[in-house]
Amino acid sequence: DGLKVMKVDDTPLPKSKNLDVLSEFEKAKRKKNASFVVVGHVDAGKSTLMGRLLVDLGVVDQRTIQRYRKEAESIGKSSFALAWVLDQRSEERSRGVTIDIATNKFDTDATSFTILDAPGHRDFIPNMIAGASQADFAILVVDATTGAFEAGLKGQTREHSLLLRSMGVSRIIVAINKLDTVAWSKERFDEISQQVSGFLSATGFQLKNVSYVPVSGLHGDNLVNASSDPAASWYSGNTLIAELENSEPMARALTKPLRMTISEVFRSPQSPLTISGRIDAGSLQAGDALLVQPSGEKAYVKSLELDSEPVDWGVAGQNVVIHLSNIDPIHVRVGDIVCDPKQPIACIDTFTVKVLAFDILMPMLVDVHRGRLHAAGQIVEIPALLDKVKGTVLKKKPKIIKPASVARILVRMSNKVPLEVGQRVVLRSGGHTVAAGLLE
Ligand code: GDP
Repeated sequence: DGLKVMKVDDTPLPKSKNLDVLSEFEKAKRKKNASFVVVGHVDAGKSTLMGRLLVDLGVVDQRTIQRYRKEAESIGKSSFALAWVLDQRSEERSRGVTIDIATNKFDTDATSFTILDAPGHRDFIPNMIAGASQADFAILVVDATTGAFEAGLKGQTREHSLLLRSMGVSRIIVAINKLDTVAWSKERFDEISQQVSGFLSATGFQLKNVSYVPVSGLHGDNLVNASSDPAASWYSGNTLIAELENSEPMARALTKPLRMTISEVFRSPQSPLTISGRIDAGSLQAGDALLVQPSGEKAYVKSLELDSEPVDWGVAGQNVVIHLSNIDPIHVRVGDIVCDPKQPIACIDTFTVKVLAFDILMPMLVDVHRGRLHAAGQIVEIPALLDKVKGTVLKKKPKIIKPASVARILVRMSNKVPLEVGQRVVLRSGGHTVAAGLLE
């Protein structure tokens, strides 16, 4: 009776080719996809290093760099020129810090890489979380300059490593940077490698998954090309790009039910409702029905794109753009999960999570972050304090948990959110990360 207010898209349902996506994927033998996050203390040289890597790979041309350098000089910050390659919005540039995950892609012969750039500024930890929650592995940049490494270790270097570990990232490439400032001292490189090994193994990383490369991001030594500085001739190991190529992406859950976290929602010429994100598990094809959680509304895949090319299907590990139909855009938001309507992810309000504590934990209010989703909740109970490495119960129902301990905690959300076992979550309180871990 009366007017129908909702603008439901009632165009005919898109057609499906009914492909066997997994065998299509086998046939296509597409390049390996790998995503990595770049972490480390502020000023360790992360942006400079990534900018230079892209220039040396020929992904960004020297003219672009020149343009950035000019702009940088005009506001008196010439040293930031390369750093700005990854950070192309002028509003952010004038502040001199990288504040969002720039999802930069580059290809080598065998691999298509996505750089999830994680800035080191304290306030920007939420971006690091979004990055780490998608990363297959990490580059940890440490500053070899006298005194700077030690300061970094007390600061974000340690915090980022703990965060990576608790988010299930197990492979780390340590770029020991700015070696030009210490005359390519092998002693300094060895000393820093040993200290980093010490704290990474104490954090629970297996050292067989950690490698070290001596670099200068500013001059481009050992990034793509081996250093030509005679003082660096003691190093004959892999360059940074060789280490990246040697890193296997995490096993993809190709045969599991479809899960994709929406990282962007926008309008496009193909559809008033287009989404993008990484397929975390499963596969999909044009014509498929999808379920969007938490709204619980159905949508259809009108068409999809991979690397700006139209494709018939997508599989876990790929970053895809999906043009949707037959759904009202109000039901779709950044952070939502798109899933298989026959095997949907449930929306829950209570769950246990095995976390690494960064701060004192007790029953308290927390913000729960999963990728780009964040929602209010509270720690209602701490069932157990656990052994950091073995995961066995050390104490039942402790009243509080000290920083750097591992615990099983029970969290209750204010509203139901789509979450399931194995997902990476981070808990924050008062603007700080207090804990991070995996849902049990
Ligand atoms: P971020 O905060 O980790 O992204 O660090 P930036 O990339 O902005 O670099 C911080 C400062 O360190 C800048 O002034 C850079 O020019 C300088 N820097 C970065 N890499 C190197 C390097 O390899 N050698 C030297 N000498 N300076 C570097």
